[in-house]
Amino acid sequence: MNKIDMREITEDELNEYLRVIGSEAYRAKQVLDWIYNKKIKSIEEMTNLSKKLREDLQNEFYVSGLILLQEMVSKDGTRKCLFELEDKQKIESVLMPDDKRLTLCVSTQVGCKFNCSFCYTGKMGFSRNLTAGEIVNQIMLVSRKEKRITNIVLMGMGEPLDNYENVIKAVKIIYSPWGLGISASKITLSTCGLIPGLKRLKDEKLNINLAISLNASDDNVRNRLMPVNKKYPLKELLKVCREYPLKPNKKRITFEYVLIRDVNDSVKDAKQLADLLKGIKCKINLLPFNKRLDGKSQYDSPDQHKVDKFHEYLISRNFSVFTRKQRGIDISASCGQLTAS
Ligand code: SF4
Repeated sequence: MNKIDMREITEDELNEYLRVIGSEAYRAKQVLDWIYNKKIKSIEEMTNLSKKLREDLQNEFYVSGLILLQEMVSKDGTRKCLFELEDKQKIESVLMPDDKRLTLCVSTQVGCKFNCSFCYTGKMGFSRNLTAGEIVNQIMLVSRKEKRITNIVLMGMGEPLDNYENVIKAVKIIYSPWGLGISASKITLSTCGLIPGLKRLKDEKLNINLAISLNASDDNVRNRLMPVNKKYPLKELLKVCREYPLKPNKKRITFEYVLIRDVNDSVKDAKQLADLLKGIKCKINLLPFNKRLDGKSQYDSPDQHKVDKFHEYLISRNFSVFTRKQRGIDISASCGQLTAS
């Protein structure tokens, strides 16, 4: 019999299991505390449970773990962690400190199917989905050393909405008080724009933040950068964004836009982008593309004056715009550079 990973068990599932075996209901709180708060590595360590209950749990469950293979620290403090999964596949997570926040960018798949032309994960091809436990474990392992992870972004290797059930389950574990207890408002899911997944997500009422990796303001350019656009073109994607429920006065959709020299960085592109996003409650993150240090980049970084002009134009159209510094450039930990090589 395949055992169930305790690192992805929910309060409801545990309550039901304890009810079936006739154990006291209050044990659920104790077990969840061991798993998600005390971060134990085996059921044997749950010392305030009876021996019998531990044996019962061991017959049904196990506690999964990741192996930290390598850690690289950038000059700017960004830390990239290379993890090995139980089947020896590898994934990466990136920890980004700034003044008040400590943000962890986690992976949701081994590789990715969507082959965006500026992204190195896409070039790996797709191996498999991560389980909810493997997504949660990235946070747990990093937080053993770093006590105060404040924000989670599902923006590492893989497309979260292509691994829908496992990602949603992981998100619920991350924000639940019985789980990791990181507020839903501090969790951001970033997608390349899978419309069926977005439509499902809008009915979940999770209250997490949504980011759309847009990167172009017309279909020709976006088809080139992101082949997924051929299936879910801009007009349809933005229709779904317009209908996406946002909490009054609070939430906005974030549009991520990687600026690439002579591909999507002109004022004409900015104007088209402003026209496209008109009327959507949003903010725009501009990310100047950075070449990987191994020189294998197909694209070039934009000139600073073009970045400034692009930014200024969007401001003149009353958008909230942030030009982000790419983080961890010297360790290839920037957006789109993860490869688990
Ligand atoms: S940008 Fe995201 S969706 Fe596109 S290939 Fe990379 S990981 Fe996949």
